[in-house]
Amino acid sequence: MAEINNFIRTIMESDLESGKVKEIITRFPPEPNAYLHIGHARAIITNFELAKALNGYTNLRFDDTNPAKEDQEFVDGILYDLKWLGYEPKNVYYGSDYFEKTYEKAIMLIKKGLAYVDDLSQEEISKYRGTLSEPGKNSPWRDRSVEENLDLFERMRKGEFKDGEKTLRAKIDMASPNINMRDPVMYRILHINHHRQGNKWCIFPMYDFAHPLQDAFEGITHSLCSIEYDNHRVLYDWVVENCETEHTPHQYEFGRLNIANTIMSKRYLRILVDSKLVSGYDDPRMPTLCGLRRRGFTPDSIRNFILGTGLSRVNSTVTNDELFEALRNDLKLKAPRPNAVIEPLKVIIDNYPEGQVEYLDCPNNQENEEMGSRKIAFSKEVYIEKSDFILEKPNKHWKRLALGVEVRLMHAYFIKATSVEYDENGEISVVHATYDPETRSGSGFDGRKPNGNIHFVEATTAKKAEFRLFEPLMVDETEENKDLDFTERINPNSVSVKYGYVEESLASTKPLDHYQFIRNGYYVTDKDSTDDLLVFNRTCELKSSFKL
Ligand code: ATP
Ligand code: MG
Repeated sequence: MAEINNFIRTIMESDLESGKVKEIITRFPPEPNAYLHIGHARAIITNFELAKALNGYTNLRFDDTNPAKEDQEFVDGILYDLKWLGYEPKNVYYGSDYFEKTYEKAIMLIKKGLAYVDDLSQEEISKYRGTLSEPGKNSPWRDRSVEENLDLFERMRKGEFKDGEKTLRAKIDMASPNINMRDPVMYRILHINHHRQGNKWCIFPMYDFAHPLQDAFEGITHSLCSIEYDNHRVLYDWVVENCETEHTPHQYEFGRLNIANTIMSKRYLRILVDSKLVSGYDDPRMPTLCGLRRRGFTPDSIRNFILGTGLSRVNSTVTNDELFEALRNDLKLKAPRPNAVIEPLKVIIDNYPEGQVEYLDCPNNQENEEMGSRKIAFSKEVYIEKSDFILEKPNKHWKRLALGVEVRLMHAYFIKATSVEYDENGEISVVHATYDPETRSGSGFDGRKPNGNIHFVEATTAKKAEFRLFEPLMVDETEENKDLDFTERINPNSVSVKYGYVEESLASTKPLDHYQFIRNGYYVTDKDSTDDLLVFNRTCELKSSFKL
């Protein structure tokens, strides 16, 4: 696997060399208000891989200072997904566990005359803030005495005021060209139950105050975040400096990862789930890590995909196809390649002995001998793909079965189609054929060349299976639909379900087992699978359908 190498690594290496830091300590700080998605994977992999490459370490810190949407379900999901991706944080911390220490730092700022309790409402604060071209206006409460501020802040904590009645603001510069520096709010009142703290707190620190402090408390050296926080960096430094923390972390920004035509923001993913447009966060069409896992992506494919996208300070958008390619590269030599017939057509081999089943040798992966072989069944009745048969061979490019035409059933015999039966709808329901016992695979037969090789599944031992085939959840953005709400751009054909058969050896398959179904694509066993009906999700096709 490729070593991680990017502009942040260069910064880290020079910080180590100059002695600015002794060790690289990073953190991944998700907000536990949703499941992780593929965009988070960029942040996770960047933090963990950089620290690992430079012999440092990474903490996981739940940024749970915004209680409204946070939940234990998401904490558990994030822990699980991180572990699945293959990363183990050195420490697991919760932002809310620092509430007491954060409160003390707020008191320090008040005592230094650098913070004040404001009575302006949220709307008034926005109005006073000014714009990019106009300076803001000082709040009438800006010059309260230190004593009054200490008293009011303590009473805020005690719960004497209602939500929104007061805030604590940093006293910086209402005329700063950087709007984030115009007396940002540091604490707000919220009478709400916190998923870890219960009712202990009714004041909650804002991200811009809590985050740099948490980084400093943990001794984080390089605090990596996405580029939209670029103009918060001065405030980050202001907080660290004025709170006189023991450690001095620094913030570095990188571009976000977007996938073309894919909704990624948590807010939208939540809408998809809540409005039942998908079956849950782990719907295989979702860009969440749990969705990608269920779809059949492997941790290595995700890591290689992310590393392959590189990293810069500019947001990047890549296509799904790169993710598919990473999966194919990962599983090509690793996944077993059993036979599955997704749209079955029965073939009866009229000259094969009635009631006989023989077992033929079949390699588990044609490109990787080390994976060994297994026996596959063959008898008078087999299933082939509907698309592998046509009544009349249309031209020399048709390398499959047709009436009067002979093909090899892979790892078995040559068969020649002789006639067909139709069902009540006029569709071909059975193909009759004859086989040539001389042509058994492995016998060295080279009398004549078949018109192609097709796969099959023996009928009496076959296991019934459901195959779920996916297309993108959203239809492509066009001139006509670009202004529609994203819920109106949902692709109505994003799942199609087919019923067919897989070979007997898959009877004991378990959820998340990966396969390359010969000639069909990469598939994974779904958790909905039962003994009576195995269920497989198509991860991706065998070849890229991407056209340049
Ligand atoms: P969203 O915008 O999807 O709601 P978020 O940024 O609010 O996500 P957090 O839980 O705060 O989600 O994210 C944790 C970390 O993951 C942050 O450092 C954030 O910058 C990073 N991150 C989130 N989405 C992406 C992305 N698409 N590309 C790169 N990093 C991301
Ligand atoms: Mg966030």
